[in-house]
Amino acid sequence: MAFCRKCGNQVFDGEVFCKTCGTPVTTSTWDGGVFDTVINSIISSLIITFTCGIATPWAICYMMKFVIEHTIINGRRLTFDGRGDQLFGNWIKWFLLCLVNCGIYGFWVTPRLYKWVASHIHSVE
Ligand SMILES: [Zn+2]
Repeated sequence: MAFCRKCGNQVFDGEVFCKTCGTPVTTSTWDGGVFDTVINSIISSLIITFTCGIATPWAICYMMKFVIEHTIINGRRLTFDGRGDQLFGNWIKWFLLCLVNCGIYGFWVTPRLYKWVASHIHSVE
């Protein structure tokens, strides 16, 4: 059940504007389930474990794709088109930068990764 953020009136699924005050309705949801989440976490962990971490970019993309493609914002489902092979080059570069400065570059890796992930998120029209 959702409510208008301006006047508090109840808004129903599929409504784009509040019927009372006309404020645009923004609704966000995630429609993944427990089973899918557990299976995806296990598969991602196995990908990392059985490749000694080399395939981490593919595991990240696999998990990101699952999370992002179950996200719906204002009735629009998001899509993720990032692939492990696209991320692998950055991954190697970031790893080497961490090596040459004793891991300090690690603070920059997570924001760079989030930025890369965000650049591959789109919404279905
Ligand atoms: Zn309203």
